[in-house]
Amino acid sequence: MEKYSRQILLDKFGNEGQKKLMEKKALVIGVGGTGGLVSQLLVRGGIGELFISDFDSVSLSNIHRQLLFSEKDIGREKIEAAYEYLKNLNSDVKIIPINERIDNKNIEDYVKKVDIVMDGTDNFLTRYIINDACVKHGKPWVYSGVLATYGMVMPIIPGKTACLRCLMKNPPKNEFSTSVLGIMNSIPSAIASIAVSLAYKILLGYEVESSIYYFDGWNINLEKLKIEKQNDCPACSLKKFEFLEK
Ligand SMILES: [Zn+2]
Repeated sequence: MEKYSRQILLDKFGNEGQKKLMEKKALVIGVGGTGGLVSQLLVRGGIGELFISDFDSVSLSNIHRQLLFSEKDIGREKIEAAYEYLKNLNSDVKIIPINERIDNKNIEDYVKKVDIVMDGTDNFLTRYIINDACVKHGKPWVYSGVLATYGMVMPIIPGKTACLRCLMKNPPKNEFSTSVLGIMNSIPSAIASIAVSLAYKILLGYEVESSIYYFDGWNINLEKLKIEKQNDCPACSLKKFEFLEK
């Protein structure tokens, strides 16, 4: 346990917490800016098993913020480069690369296998699919989003906290992306760090609040907004999982 000695010293972890973490399994969907650092921290922290998924290849414009890739990876499949990077970090951790695009047809198979799902995606449709699958199977997930100099994070624990459809019933009509509005490279890292702190709390059995965290990375402000569970939420209240069916 020498490897994790600085983490075990934390009263929030201790030996018990570390052992618990080493028995847990996580799925990170998308290993770009946010998901790449989420994966790296979970592997270094000693999660038991990490499933990673991505269908994209590494491009030159990824390098400024996507910490698993270097210039020599340009043109390679992200999943292959990410797997190679992560497996060299910590031999305790079993890393399972998923070589298919996660969609509404296959997501439930993966969600059922893990204790938590981490959002490293860049689009709302996939997030609504993740939300439906996680709520249906009672698995916690952490929603993360970044744009320009802002980011947001929300922990979702089915049956306890509000879910993504309690926050926004439907995906936003106009979706802005980092390819249009840009991204400051410190933002995905900040958001990934908050997301991983929430993942540790959830995996070690601590309470998390039903809140969304908005981070303004330019003026440096973290705002916490309480989100109520909605009685008419199609997903967590009415158990209608439309995004798994479409
Ligand atoms: Zn809900």
